[in-house]
Amino acid sequence: MALVQCIRCANAGEEIVGPLYLGKLETEIKKSICGACWAEWVKMRVMVINEYQVNLGDESGRALVKEQMLSFLKLPKPQS
Ligand SMILES: [Zn+2]
Repeated sequence: MALVQCIRCANAGEEIVGPLYLGKLETEIKKSICGACWAEWVKMRVMVINEYQVNLGDESGRALVKEQMLSFLKLPKPQS
C-alpha cells in the first residue's frame, strides 16, 4: 500500500482507500491526507452535521461541511 506524507499529522501514513465523491478536491485530499486523518474527519463530519444541523440537500449546507473539512484537514481553501 502506498504511503502519503500527510499535511495534517505530519506523518507518512497509509493512503485513503476508496472513493470520496468529492470531485476536484478528491485528488488534492488523497495526495495530502493520510487514511487515519481522513477517518477522524469522517467521525467529525457527523458531529459537524449534528452541531450545525446541516441539511445536506442544501447548497449552503454542503458548502459549510466542505469549509469545516478543509480547516479540519488543514488544507488551503480553493480559490474558486
Ligand atoms: Zn494524517
